[in-house]
This record gives sequence, C-alpha cells and structure tokens, in this order.
Amino acid sequence: MRNCVRKKILCCINGSFGERFAEVAEANGLSVVKLAPALGEPIAALDLDEMLSKNPDVEAVALTHNETSVGLINPLKELAASVRKHDKLIFVDAVSSMGGTEINVDELGIDVCFSSSQKCFGVPPGLGIGSVSEKAMNLSATASNKGWYFDFKVWEEDQKKGHGTPVTPAIPQIAGLNTALKMIERNGGKKWYFDLYKERNQRIRRGIEKYGLSTFPRKGSESPTVNCIKAPDGVEGGAIYEMMREKGFELAEGYGPLKKKTFRIGNMGYIEMGDIDLMLDTLGKIVSSL
Ligand SMILES: *Cc1c(COP(=O)(O)O)cnc(C)c1O
Repeated sequence: MRNCVRKKILCCINGSFGERFAEVAEANGLSVVKLAPALGEPIAALDLDEMLSKNPDVEAVALTHNETSVGLINPLKELAASVRKHDKLIFVDAVSSMGGTEINVDELGIDVCFSSSQKCFGVPPGLGIGSVSEKAMNLSATASNKGWYFDFKVWEEDQKKGHGTPVTPAIPQIAGLNTALKMIERNGGKKWYFDLYKERNQRIRRGIEKYGLSTFPRKGSESPTVNCIKAPDGVEGGAIYEMMREKGFELAEGYGPLKKKTFRIGNMGYIEMGDIDLMLDTLGKIVSSL
C-alpha cells in the first residue's frame, strides 16, 4: 500500500481476509472503494470492470485469491485481465493459494503477489514470501512516507548486493522452505504438488458429501486448499469442531460471520491420504450420531 498507492485503492472482498486487506489500506490513510458480492459468491470480472470504469482515479486493485474464511477461490485470470485492461496495479493475497494451485504471476501481470511459509508450503510460520513487479518497484522509488521496514527499494538493494536481506530474517523458516521446495522437485515438481492438493481436497469433499454435508461457496468456486462446510441443521459448526478435537482431529472453526454456520477442513501442509480417511470416518460417525 505504502510503496505503490498514493490515494485510492479498490478492494475486492468476499470474506474476512478481503476485509482485512481493506482495513490495512484504511490504516495506511488510503481511500478505499469496495467490491463485495454476497458471501459465498466469487468476484465477477464484469463487476470489477464496471467498478473500475466508474472509479477511474483508483490506482490499484487488492484481491484475495483464495478466501480462506469462506473456502472460495476467485477467478484470478479473468480478474487480472480486467485490471490490466484499465491499466491499474494488482495486489494479490495468495497466502492460502501459493503452492496449492498455479499462479502465473508474470503472465497475469500481478504487481505484488504475497504468501507465507505456514500455509501451502507446510513450513512453520514466520516468513513472508512475495514478488514485486518492475512497475511497482518504480512507483516505490518515488513514494514518500513509505517507512523503512517494508520499503521495496531497501529490500531490492540488499538482494542486488547478494547479501540477502536488510534485517535478520527468519532463517529456520528459510531453511525449511528450501527443504519443502526440494521435496516438491524430487517428487515431480509443481504439477505433482498441485495435483496432490486437488486429490486431497476432492477426497475430503467427496467424503463429506457421502454424509449428506455440502460446501458453502457457489459451486465451481470451491477452494482447492480448504473446504468450508455447512454445519448440519440445528448444530453449530463449533460443536463439530470440538467433537472432532476430542477425537484427536484438529479441523478449523468457521470464521467471521460464518463462525456458527460452518466448519472448515483444510488440506494445506503435510497430510497423508490415510489421515484424511481416518478423519472422514470419525466425522461420519459424529454426524450420524447427531
Ligand atoms: C492465513 C491467511 C492470512 C493471514 O496470515 P497470518 O500470517 O495469520 O496473518 C491472510 N490472508 C489469507 C488469505 C490467509 O489464508
């Protein structure tokens, strides 16, 4: 926000992390235009196009690629094309999608794409991972009051010198990420890893459907890294979460406005197919005992 935007940004919101993106913009003194469809609906490229036509002074678009709170993935390719058509910057929160599904950063013209160690890479938390386009870098060069710690130019300078980073980084996480990436390469590269995500995700979805449960987001927009599942009638999502916890399975509660109505099952990090089957068996028993 502070490296690239002077006054106004458009934030696409379909859940809590999109909301947070807007909060960050506001906290940095920017004027924010919001595009927020009904919960469970993806951002539509046509709506974004219309919003950008109506707000020509917007400098950048902020998008949460995979909205973890709702278990929904946005159509990044179409949305990026809309943004490019209007010649705006695009910032992508890919925290729960980078590593779990393909993101062609350069082809799509994404200016800032960021993630972290603890989601799809399956490494402990503490490391931010990101890419910055040349256009964003050039804007940063002339930005004022951008602070120091996240000044792109400061980080670029150290990287160019070959020394790495201007501050001491989370070294164990860098070593962990290196190991995780090597493991992916050894097993056949990113296609293998993306397929693994798909397989685990669909195994979970097919499993819950057998118990009469269904996912929250619009069909076709379900996330490949986390399933957000509607709690059975008359039961709170938190109750399912607690019962599963008692049996030794750490799922996730619903998030934000969906806290009571849903619970979530992520498939990020190191998970064996056998673990998924055991978890589904246990969930099936709990659901049928309600
Ligand atoms: C987990 C997550 C975040 C927040 O990451 P923290 O490191 O917990 O702050 C942001 N955006 C998305 C989409 C996430 O899934």
